[in-house]
Order: sequence, then C-alpha cells, then structure tokens
Amino acid sequence: MSRRLATLRGDYTGMVEASRDTNADDEHDPEGATIAFERSQLDTLVQQATRRLAEIEAALARLGDGTYGLCEACGRAIPAERLEVRPDARRCVACG
Ligand SMILES: [Zn+2]
Repeated sequence: MSRRLATLRGDYTGMVEASRDTNADDEHDPEGATIAFERSQLDTLVQQATRRLAEIEAALARLGDGTYGLCEACGRAIPAERLEVRPDARRCVACG
C-alpha cells in the first residue's frame, strides 16, 4: 500500500508543480481571457490535488506510526477493499 501512496503522491505533486510552471505571463496574449478561464479551472484542480496530497501525506505518516488502516473514528480496521479504492481513507465505510 505504501507504494501506491508514494505513486499517488508523485502524481499529485507533479500536478501541483506543473501548474506552478505554467504560471507564465499571459497579460498580452490575445487569448488571455480563454487562458484565464482555463486557469481558473486548473486552479480548482490544483486545489483538489493539494488537498489530496495532504491526505496522502497524512496516510504516509500513519503508515510510519503504525495507525494506518485503522478508522480514526471507531478504531476498527478499514477493509482492504476500501483501502484499495482509497488508499488514504481515514475512516471505515460505516463512519464515512
Ligand atoms: Zn469506523
């Protein structure tokens, strides 16, 4: 599971960094309005990626301290199938 988390972390880190790289000056671009629109959509994606990245980092930290895979609400083990779908899940299905 840690390898999947590491892969996910790489993916999201790449997204966040790529968005910083495209932060070029487009003030004088005739298509500036389009780019601004696309950027606002990209910003939303980047915000989501940043949040996901934080969740993934937290999951990696839990792996480190041995609490990974335990529901933070009820303390029971989160089913493997759920962790398969959502490796950074903090809670079991019942606790949502
Ligand atoms: Zn629970």
